[in-house]
Amino acid sequence: MDAIGERIAALNERVRNLQADGLYFMQIPSSALDGPWVTVDDRRMLMLASYSYLGLLGHPDIARAAHAALDRFGAGTHGVRLLAGTLTLHRELEETIARFKRAEDAVAYSSGYVTNLSVISTLVGRGDAVISDKLNHASILDGCLLSRANLIRFRHNDMADLERALIRAGSAAKLVIVDAVFSMDGDVINLPEVNRLCKYYRAWLMVDEAHSLGVLGRTGHGIEEHFDLPPDAIDIKMGTLSKTIPSVGGYIAGNRDLITYLKHVSRAYIFSAALPPASAAAAKAAFEVIEREPWRVEKLRQVSGLFLSGLRALGFDTLRSETAIVPVITGDDDRAFQMTRACHRQDVFALPVVSPGVPVGLARLRATVTAAHDPQHVERALEVFAKAGREVGVI
Ligand code: PMP
Repeated sequence: MDAIGERIAALNERVRNLQADGLYFMQIPSSALDGPWVTVDDRRMLMLASYSYLGLLGHPDIARAAHAALDRFGAGTHGVRLLAGTLTLHRELEETIARFKRAEDAVAYSSGYVTNLSVISTLVGRGDAVISDKLNHASILDGCLLSRANLIRFRHNDMADLERALIRAGSAAKLVIVDAVFSMDGDVINLPEVNRLCKYYRAWLMVDEAHSLGVLGRTGHGIEEHFDLPPDAIDIKMGTLSKTIPSVGGYIAGNRDLITYLKHVSRAYIFSAALPPASAAAAKAAFEVIEREPWRVEKLRQVSGLFLSGLRALGFDTLRSETAIVPVITGDDDRAFQMTRACHRQDVFALPVVSPGVPVGLARLRATVTAAHDPQHVERALEVFAKAGREVGVI
C-alpha cells in the first residue's frame, strides 16, 4: 500500500473502532431543531452543540424573508457575482452588513471558509508577510498557506510575541489576522493591543468574527463594541452568515476601495456562484432581527454566564472562556468520548472535540448554550455534566 492508501486505511480503522465501541459521535443526523431542543433518533435532547448563539434558527421573520426570496427569484443563482449572478438581494444584504458593522461597504461570499481562503490569498502574496495567531481557525491558516506569503504565527493572544513577529516581518507589506473569539477555547483576542501594534508597525488588521457577531458588545455588534473601539479599528472585518446568522455565507466589511478591490480581484467572487436568494434574504433579515430584538444578546450573556460559572463551581476546567463557547476539558480523547456518551444517555446533546482538532491532552466537550435556552435548561445541563463528569473521573 502507498502512503495515500495507508492514510486512508488508518483513518478508517480509527472510525471503525470508535463505532464498534459506541464512541463515534460525528455526523449524527438530527431530524428536528427547535429552540433549545434537538431530535436525534426520535429522542428529543437538550441541544448544547449549536452555534445559533442568539437562537435565531427558525425565527418567523427570517423564514418569511427566505420564502419570499425563493418565490421571487427561484432556488439558485445562475452565475457568479461579477457577471450576471448579482441580485438586488445581494446588494441589500451587503448594505445591511456594512451598516451593522459600521463600515462603508461589504461583500458577501458563499461561505465563511471560502471568504478567508479567497480574501487572504487576494490581499497578500509572495514577498509579503501574513501574521496569524496560533489558534486561528483552519480557514485562516489555509488562506495564509494558499497566499504563499511569508507566514509568521505568534503564540496565542501573546502580544509580546505578536510584536516580535511584526519586527521580524521587517519592511514587507504586513497583514495581521486574528479570531475575535477563538472557536475552540471561547476566549477573546486582546484587540486594543493588537490594534495599537498594527498601527505602530503599519500592518493591516483582519479580524474573523465568526463567533463574536451577535455575541460580543452590548447590542451584539461585535468586538469593536465590546472594547469600545472606533469602527475603523479593524481594516478587514470578516464574519460568517452561518452561526448567529442562521443562513450560509461569509462577508468582509471595510472601506469602499477595499471592497471594490475584492469584488474585482478575489477569485471566489469571480469564479464561484453567488449566494442563493433564500440564503441572502434570510441573512439580511437576521441582521435586522438582531437590531430589533437586543434582548437576545442580553439573554445569551445571562445564560452563558450561568453555565460557565456553574461548570467552574463544579470543578471543571473551562480554560479562559468568557463567551458562549465553553470548553469542558476532559484531558484524553477517550474520556471526552465517554463523557459524551454519558451526557447523551441523559438526553443532553454535547459533542467532543479531540486531537488533531485540539492539542493532545486537551480533549474536551465543547458546549454552548444560546439565547434559546432558559435558566432551567442550564440547570439541567449542569446536573447532567456533573453526573457525567464524576462518572468518567473528570471532576
Ligand atoms: N472562521 C471561524 C472562526 C469559524 O469557526 C468558521 C466555522 N467553523 C469559519 C470561519 C468558516 O465559516 P463557515 O462555516 O461559514 O464556512
